[in-house]
Amino acid sequence: LVQLYVPLNWFGTYYRAIQRNFVDMENMFDLMRVDSDVKDMPGAPDLLVRRGAIEFKDVSFGYGPERLVLNNVSFTVPSGSTVALVGPSGAGKSTIMRLLFRFYDVNEGAILVDGQDVRTVTQASLRANIGVVPQDTVLFNNTVRYNIQYGRLSAETADIIAAAKNADIHDKILTFPDAYDTQVGERGLKLSGGEKQRIAIARTLLKDPAIVLLDEATSALDTNTERNIQAALARVCANRTTLIIAHRLSTIIHADEILVLRDGEIIERGHHEILLTQGGFYASMWQQQLENRNNNALENSTEGNN
Ligand code: ATP
Repeated sequence: LVQLYVPLNWFGTYYRAIQRNFVDMENMFDLMRVDSDVKDMPGAPDLLVRRGAIEFKDVSFGYGPERLVLNNVSFTVPSGSTVALVGPSGAGKSTIMRLLFRFYDVNEGAILVDGQDVRTVTQASLRANIGVVPQDTVLFNNTVRYNIQYGRLSAETADIIAAAKNADIHDKILTFPDAYDTQVGERGLKLSGGEKQRIAIARTLLKDPAIVLLDEATSALDTNTERNIQAALARVCANRTTLIIAHRLSTIIHADEILVLRDGEIIERGHHEILLTQGGFYASMWQQQLENRNNNALENSTEGNN
């Protein structure tokens, strides 16, 4: 009986882990549109994460047979470094994240984490080692505490508080009616976008994964909030292998490498300064954002004068 019980119990654990992570990713990747054709190979081992290095090797992928969404994409994210994905809408940035999470399998090429092809290891172990800070965090109808603890259900209160402090949300939580025991959600507390993202950061800090996927919010946060979030984001990325989808180029000027994607191909790559001197697509995106910022600043100052 014991022999039977152990594997079943293991299965249960894994199954719950998979479910948990699916809920996690649902927010970021619109899971409703993702069919789960991907299966673990029989007897697949767990991913052995050493330092979380990522490699995309000649990856081509299409959601259907009629069109490739990624075409021969190759890049590495050395362990502990930060690589940013930028490019127009529909270029394939989120698709890269989905493939790394193995929501789909590549058509050609391979994706490796610490040298292991993601198709050869269990999905649960792959996803357990990847933390996600989505663009719009959807919180559970539960307490603030649970929403953070979800990153590691066995976490002690002291760890939850430490994570909240590191995410710059602890002081705010103390102002809620029942502090960490305050209910969030429809009938409870309404949190701003920035506060929700900080809860997601705290959750990820608690999970402590080797790899972090970050989808920067497109919606403009006010400059003060944004600066605070940047500090918390920097903490969640520190010493972790980080892949970030960036919409505001000002946030990635220190990235180790920037990959510029267009129509599923990497058209430029390098450090911010190098890309600027090349005067290509990235340089024009940068110019465009500077102009938008100046125009907005001008509009705000004119409004202020009225
Ligand atoms: P954005 O900045 O707007 O989020 P993106 O660069 O992240 O864009 P992707 O979401 O990766 O782009 O989409 C790349 C292409 O794949 C787009 O043409 C998109 O329409 C298509 N696509 C995305 N998801 C699916 C899907 N589930 N089924 C079919 N096509 C899809």
